[in-house]
Amino acid sequence: MGDRAPSTRRDARLAARLRRHRLDRGITQAAMAARLGISASYLNLIEHGRRPLGAELLLRAAGELPDVRLHFRHRLEDVDLDAGEAIFVREDGTHVTARGTLLVGADGAFSAVRARMQRNPGFDYSQSYLEAGYKELTIPATEDGGFRLDEHALHIWPRGGSMMIALPNRDGTFTCTLFWPMEGDHSFAGLPESSSDDEIMGFFRREYGDAVPLMPTLLEDYRENPTSTLVTIRCDPWHWGDRVVLVGDAAHAIVPFYGQGMNAAFEDVRILDEMLEAAGDDPAKVLPAFSRRRKPAGDAIADLALANFVEMRDRVASPLFLARKKLEKVLSGVLPGTFEPLYDLVSFSNTPYHEAREKARRQDRILAGIGIGLVAVVVIGVVAGVAAAI
Ligand SMILES: Cc1cc2nc3c(=O)[nH]c(=O)nc-3n(C[C@H](O)[C@H](O)[C@H](O)COP(=O)(O)OP(=O)(O)OC[C@H]3O[C@@H](n4cnc5c(N)ncnc54)[C@H](O)[C@@H]3O)c2cc1C
Repeated sequence: MGDRAPSTRRDARLAARLRRHRLDRGITQAAMAARLGISASYLNLIEHGRRPLGAELLLRAAGELPDVRLHFRHRLEDVDLDAGEAIFVREDGTHVTARGTLLVGADGAFSAVRARMQRNPGFDYSQSYLEAGYKELTIPATEDGGFRLDEHALHIWPRGGSMMIALPNRDGTFTCTLFWPMEGDHSFAGLPESSSDDEIMGFFRREYGDAVPLMPTLLEDYRENPTSTLVTIRCDPWHWGDRVVLVGDAAHAIVPFYGQGMNAAFEDVRILDEMLEAAGDDPAKVLPAFSRRRKPAGDAIADLALANFVEMRDRVASPLFLARKKLEKVLSGVLPGTFEPLYDLVSFSNTPYHEAREKARRQDRILAGIGIGLVAVVVIGVVAGVAAAI
């Protein structure tokens, strides 16, 4: 594990140097991104330390480490928490037991490691499903591989209790996601996959008319792609004894509306790695402190992701909301490093999520003060004007 920490620091140093080089020369992010042949939003992620990493990259990196062996098609069946043993079943039904100094449960929202921990007294666990589910559709690339929509924007079609969003992929396509209630109006139950072509196309033309011409495979995507649920899972602690720890969705599955689930998982790993390195790779010295340090961050991003669902679904089209976002942008421009919008703190910094939320609350109080001040100035001005006219 120790091998990864220096490269994390090296990446951070390189990112900082890249940003410094750009700022010193007055080069905009868009211009620098064009020179590097990447998108401005990707450069932004790189410069601020939360780079998106795919499983593909992770596997490649892990595969290059001499002491890492990858085993596929082994299902974790049980865990001996005290011994730190993991019992796997292979496809042919045979079992194999693995034992290590530290067993890291990175097995997702329905973690088998966590399921074993749940059977122990003193382990807290909760799960709650959102009333909305999701289904993915596609906007293909243009014939020359370009984007059919602005790739630097987050596209949202807010429709009260339902919405569709579109996020760009590197190959010029967009993944559109429908976040609809499972039941009721404008819901998955209201437009079953078995609906006729006319019913499906008629519904989309009515509700998402401008997007329909961009989605030639809409009918088959809608019929064939699964409708999935969205769950928030919390547990406490994230470790058991001195040999077993949970990271990622296994510890904190969150709804996807802040785009942070995977980033939070990588952050768990980075911090666990740094803590282990500082403690001479002794899990017993680290695991309780890791749980205490990361749990507030996991809870905060779970809450923020749920709140962002309501914001994206109900508020993004409101003039007040848009005015507030503009004001935040102006303030972060004139007070860089002092005023930082919550979204930027969460998405483009390594500030722990709960501290980002606290800072945003303090800034909200300042914004509210500015709002009240402005209203007071206007009222005083009007009163003074009326008095002068009398
Ligand atoms: C619609 C949607 C959109 C999202 N968008 C974003 C986004 O924009 N940005 C972002 O950061 N995050 C996003 N996320 C969240 C992100 O996908 C997850 O947070 C992330 O994949 C969690 O990684 P993980 O490694 O903890 O778990 P997983 O990715 O779930 O990986 C768990 C692995 O464990 C394996 N496994 C499970 N059980 C067993 C077992 N018993 N035995 C052996 N292996 C097992 C699974 O096969 C899987 O390979 C999104 C999620 C959803 C649903």
